[in-house]
Amino acid sequence: MAVCGPNSLMWFRKSLRIHDNPALEYAAATNGGGGQSGCLYPVFVVDPHYMEPDPTAFSAGSGRAGLNRIRFLLESLVDLDCSLRKLGSRLLVLKGEPAEVLIRCLKKWDIKRLCFEHDTEPYYQALDIKVKQDYASAAGVEIFSPVSHTLFNPADIIQKLAGHPSWASSPLSTTISWLPPVGNVGNSKISNVPTLKELGYEDIIQDESTPFRGGESVALERLRAAINDKEWVAKFEKPKGNPSAFLKPATTVLSPYLKFGCLSSRYFYQCIQEVQKNVKSHTLPPVSLLGQLLWRDFFYTVAYGTPHFDQMEGNRISKQIPWNVDDRLLAAWRDARTGFPWIDAIMVQLHKWGWMHHLARHSVACFLTRGDLFVHWEKGRDIFERLLIDSDWAINNGNWLWLSCSSFFYQYNRIYSPTSFGKKYDPNGDYIRHFLPILKDMPKEYIYEPWTAPLSIQTKANCIIGRDYPKPVVSHDTASKDCKRKLAEAYELNKKLNGSVSEQDLKFLRRKFEEYQQKGQQPESKKPKNL
Ligand code: FAD
Repeated sequence: MAVCGPNSLMWFRKSLRIHDNPALEYAAATNGGGGQSGCLYPVFVVDPHYMEPDPTAFSAGSGRAGLNRIRFLLESLVDLDCSLRKLGSRLLVLKGEPAEVLIRCLKKWDIKRLCFEHDTEPYYQALDIKVKQDYASAAGVEIFSPVSHTLFNPADIIQKLAGHPSWASSPLSTTISWLPPVGNVGNSKISNVPTLKELGYEDIIQDESTPFRGGESVALERLRAAINDKEWVAKFEKPKGNPSAFLKPATTVLSPYLKFGCLSSRYFYQCIQEVQKNVKSHTLPPVSLLGQLLWRDFFYTVAYGTPHFDQMEGNRISKQIPWNVDDRLLAAWRDARTGFPWIDAIMVQLHKWGWMHHLARHSVACFLTRGDLFVHWEKGRDIFERLLIDSDWAINNGNWLWLSCSSFFYQYNRIYSPTSFGKKYDPNGDYIRHFLPILKDMPKEYIYEPWTAPLSIQTKANCIIGRDYPKPVVSHDTASKDCKRKLAEAYELNKKLNGSVSEQDLKFLRRKFEEYQQKGQQPESKKPKNL
């Protein structure tokens, strides 16, 4: 096997894909000086904090991730390994604290070039600094860390805000057709992608788990199925979709694939553009499908540019609101025991599937915070963060800030009704009957407010309210009025705080996104092969 040039290591964290993966392309191809790459070590480090069972957690999974997301990640890794093998390589799975494991590999395998996708999340930023400071810089390891998780580089957009005109997206990378061989791994503890059982999850029995399987192959199939329906793409208009559609969801369900980078958002964007070119008319951002991807970049940018984005205190774009700390109400919400079937069914879908429609997320986030329970948005954020299969630091925090009227959106008088909102879409309550089978025989007149059903009806439906299914934890009328009053008071107080400059920035950024789209400026496209 004649190879020359420096050894490279491709560090997979997200970007679990072969298509449009510039870090992998660089690691595989010519080195910076034009020579041939040596061996290529494709590495994924299993972080036990992220993956291993935490018996004290409120549901199956680790301390940081629910079982559905762990399974999705493992499936994505198996698929990645399979694709790498087809290209003459394989995924090297190691276990331990990621920075320590990685530095050990860099040393042992004499790596001269380290490639990984740039990540703006604080967790990865800290990890990257550690790897650079503790070893790579001093050892002269070349680092190639391109932006490919988002359409644009959040740092460029922020620079543009500050008056530096450098807002552009880089071209798509080509799909790789060959990879250099994996070098000698010495005595490093390499394994295959672990199974759930090998991670210690053997005893867990779930009565229904997520129907969405992980991996680039499924992502591309799902993408193709979505974009093949050109009319659907052209007419896509959010928030008009039906949040209760669960057999055939009203949106793409590509979020978990974007989260792990099984699907490139840039490729997704390009595919939507292709469809739009070939139809007579189509919807526009912010409501179109393309607009959804711009929202994604919007939240990444604001998150990157806002210190303490994931908390209320010290976060200059967050209203300061005296939220309640109420563990009883929080647990009722988390465990789908609020007594409002629409809210509880959504929370069951979160536990079982790890995915819900956007408006369903709106309903439960509003209910927990400014709508009814007045519980701190950070508490709800934590539960979503752990249970969603698409759990994404920037998007999740951004949307919780939004839904709690802490930032971006301030019309706190507009509250989602926990009874009539769902009924508009699903008068028969099929969604509730599926996720809350205890209510499956409740007549449709009462399914959204079962506590109003006469006892004879409850008996006939085999569901006595207060015994088989909880009574409502609050009266929506009273609680929502109370919330509006508290929000009004908090907003008055916030006027006295000096946060106005950052809110102007925010408005400016939103306007720029819209202008940018209207001018038709788009990421450059170079079609990846073999898709
Ligand atoms: P589609 O409508 O098909 O949109 C395509 C893609 O656009 C999505 O996959 C997603 O990447 C992006 N997108 C869509 N809506 C938004 C949005 N509002 N903000 C940013 N990007 C968007 N989305 C996550 O990916 N991860 C999260 O952790 C997350 N947490 C949320 C928490 C709350 C309280 C709320 C209200 C929303 C949250 N969202 C989150 C945003 C949104 O609900 C999901 O992205 C969307 O429902 C995913 O379904 P989809 O892929 O079918 O979306």
